[in-house]
Amino acid sequence: MIASRLAEVGAAVAEAARAAGRDPASVGVIAVSKLQPASAIEQAVQAGQRDFGENYAQELRDKTQAIRGATWHFIGPLQRNKVKYVVGVAALIHTVDGPSLCEEIARRAAAAGVVQRCLIQVNVAREPQKSGCDPDALSSLVDAFAAAPSLRLEGLMCIPPAGDAESARGHFRALATLAATESARSGLLLPVLSMGMSGDFKVAIAEGATLVRIGTAIFGERPATR
Ligand SMILES: *Cc1c(COP(=O)(O)O)cnc(C)c1O
Repeated sequence: MIASRLAEVGAAVAEAARAAGRDPASVGVIAVSKLQPASAIEQAVQAGQRDFGENYAQELRDKTQAIRGATWHFIGPLQRNKVKYVVGVAALIHTVDGPSLCEEIARRAAAAGVVQRCLIQVNVAREPQKSGCDPDALSSLVDAFAAAPSLRLEGLMCIPPAGDAESARGHFRALATLAATESARSGLLLPVLSMGMSGDFKVAIAEGATLVRIGTAIFGERPATR
């Protein structure tokens, strides 16, 4: 079941890339496995899936200890006191949204002797309840990364407001524009755009996504709790 869904998602991702005139290899699929049991993740690994996304720090830590052969992405809101579970464990942290979190990740990464790859989550629609860096604060956060040798900023991530796929298009486009603008301003390469989920990944790919985060289309509905 999971293997066939993975194959369907892979084919749809490749098709969306080709339709946008892009190389299918330029779009990576992260299987979002939050709240899914280890057995479901093992099935996906057996089917050849490598990248997995988790939203909760301790759940990430537990799963990385139990499951081999996977590359982990942290995609949930991150509190400073949970950074210790994530640094050096997640290959890529997608959700850095402010200077204090940036500083704590830098400190932990330096202490662990690793260079932590990160993305900045941008609150593209400036939704009051949503995590993510305000677009107006993005430049100063990018500069904080540039000053931290234990961090490597690779790009941007967003979760657009709830709505249909087409309503997300403008937000995806805005994120791509912000990445290009910030890259030109700062001189950092920011090639990664983490955007698009089960309901809107095709639109995200058309707008330049390099990583799509797909949960329910691969694993089915999520259990309410683990
Ligand atoms: C849960 C989650 C996803 C996956 O959502 P689906 O609609 O199940 O594909 C993607 N990104 C983030 C940040 C999530 O929290």
